[in-house]
Amino acid sequence: MKEKSANSVWNNCLEIIKDNVSAQSFKTWFEPIRPVELVGTVLTIQVPSQFFYEWLEEHYVALLRKTIKRELGNSARLEYRIVVENSNANTPSTVDYPNQNSGNNQNPEVGFPYFLNGNQIKNPFVIPGLKKINVDPQLNSNYNFDSLVEGDCNRLARSAGYAVAQKPGGTAFNPLVIYGGVGLGKTHLAQAIGNEVKANFPNKTVLYVSSEKFTNQFFDAVKNNSVNDFVHFYQLIDVLLVDDIQFFGNKEKTQDIFFHIFNHLHQNGKQLVLTTDRPPRDLEGMEERLLSRFKWGLSADLQVPDFETRIAILEKKMYADGIELPREVVEFVAYNINTNVRELEAALISLLAQASLNKKEVDLDLAKKIIKNFVKSISREVSIDYIQKTVCDYFTVPVDMLREKTRKRMIVQARQLSMFLAKNYTKNSLKVIGKHFGGRDHSTVIHSCQAVQNLIDTDQEFREAVADIQKKIQMSIS
Ligand code: ADP
Ligand code: MG
Repeated sequence: MKEKSANSVWNNCLEIIKDNVSAQSFKTWFEPIRPVELVGTVLTIQVPSQFFYEWLEEHYVALLRKTIKRELGNSARLEYRIVVENSNANTPSTVDYPNQNSGNNQNPEVGFPYFLNGNQIKNPFVIPGLKKINVDPQLNSNYNFDSLVEGDCNRLARSAGYAVAQKPGGTAFNPLVIYGGVGLGKTHLAQAIGNEVKANFPNKTVLYVSSEKFTNQFFDAVKNNSVNDFVHFYQLIDVLLVDDIQFFGNKEKTQDIFFHIFNHLHQNGKQLVLTTDRPPRDLEGMEERLLSRFKWGLSADLQVPDFETRIAILEKKMYADGIELPREVVEFVAYNINTNVRELEAALISLLAQASLNKKEVDLDLAKKIIKNFVKSISREVSIDYIQKTVCDYFTVPVDMLREKTRKRMIVQARQLSMFLAKNYTKNSLKVIGKHFGGRDHSTVIHSCQAVQNLIDTDQEFREAVADIQKKIQMSIS
């Protein structure tokens, strides 16, 4: 009798629900539900998984509440029974949940009420037998910490990554969010963490996935009605590395599902490593609740490596590939390719390719010819700005200071030398040059050029510095 009335009540509910959700959602989220029993005005429904329950509570609670009240009156209540997949038992066991949102005790942690509400459930996913899944971690063994050169540009991110790999889930860096521009080593670092975890803890389940792949898998799962399997799979991972999460921007459903997986893993002490091409606060089309999760751990950035680090990267790469190049060639490449590491590697590869094609040694001349194409493609011409930057880098003074009135010796020197070089390397008038230095007039520029010439004539150290800087500028235009 009970069975029957639970059935009929639920069927009436379904009629209403059908008209209020898309056909796809209905199929995915409502068809798998089984009405279990009706006691008074309490209807119990059975859902296939905890995740399923979370999803219903989060997305359809208002609709469910309304339809059930319509059928059973104002005192109506919904309870869930969750099937716990148990490989050892023939019949699935179940765990009961009340509908958390049906009462007045709205929990502020939307979507995760039950974790906070005592111990009604003991993590239904940790099931012996199921745990031993064999997941291909999707790692490339060349991307390891050894091959990831350390520099000021990546020190924090790299050491946080290393720490995480020694103690996955056991540091404050959870999630570890690595951000930085194209070709600065995000993927390399994420993979290095994965490889290091695997080396330290062979039994841990590690998975590297691009957010694009994750999204596609999720879409497929929706299409094939296997969202549950999809989520279960991800919830079994010990160290989840998700690359380029900016790709999740404006993909609401994917963010939802990722939010659930994220929470589940985090709650269970599993490690999350995420990469993005911009600081989390600048991620567009990303839900606030997801962004706030990222703040739980550490965000560390990757910068463009400085000249010395670029040399070290080239040398490491050459060593790994068993190649030798003249020091001046390496320096030339490192000077001129200063956008990102991927460009740097590409330049090196094309240099070697040309050399072997022409059966020629790689010397500075060949390097100049080849790198010119590269630099051209990044379209760098010598400009006053470039000169200012080169000079300021050399003396390590902030470029802004060149436009200020300060009389500090270092800055005066950098300013005068920049003017001198601007006059010699650009076709700009003295007036235009003066403008670039905080609106100084042409007589100031003339005076500066004379002062620099005097110093060059009398001060050997200064002369050498100028020669160094000129070399850098010349390399960028030759
Ligand atoms: P991203 O994912 O940030 O776009 P990648 O991780 O793909 O960048 O890095 C681009 C290339 O540069 C890769 O071949 C990587 O091995 C290399 N690379 C980046 N940073 C370093 C580094 N610090 N040391 C050695 N190689 C690096
Ligand atoms: Mg990448």
